[in-house]
Amino acid sequence: KLGNETLKKELGRASWRLMHTMMARFPEKPTPDDSLALQTYIKLFARLYPCGECAAHFQTLLEKYPPQTSSRNAAAGWACFVHNEVNTRLKKELFDCNKIGDFYDCGCGDGDGKGGH
Ligand code: FAD
Repeated sequence: KLGNETLKKELGRASWRLMHTMMARFPEKPTPDDSLALQTYIKLFARLYPCGECAAHFQTLLEKYPPQTSSRNAAAGWACFVHNEVNTRLKKELFDCNKIGDFYDCGCGDGDGKGGH
């Protein structure tokens, strides 16, 4: 039981990190195709998330708070907000979304996320 909870938490931390880091690298001025790609990604992420209970809750959250994909700031702010909604349900501390700016660094060593391949 304890082992399962530990794994679920590790999965959660890894997933949130990926999600927030993607938002921090999302274009400041996305094309309609960029926005659609992020919308689709989030919807499929919520559907396929391996913890079934978590996925069900998160899909309900997405219906209430549809993903914001019009800009990097909008997307990062939205992800921070929904993560806080999950934090509230799990009785965790809330994150100050004004401080999201430089918190998630991908370590890619480039400025805009387009290069470095
Ligand atoms: P996490 O919540 O994993 O956060 C990791 C780090 O991110 C924190 O230490 C902090 O530095 C930073 N952070 C915290 N809040 C924010 C924020 N709002 N914005 C940006 N950064 C932030 N677990 C369950 O038991 N039941 C569930 O129903 C459930 N649903 C989940 C749904 C999704 C979509 C995901 C990704 C995870 C879910 N989890 C669920 C896992 C849970 O959210 C945590 O990831 C896990 O409990 C580990 O928590 P943690 O305290 O280490 O911090």
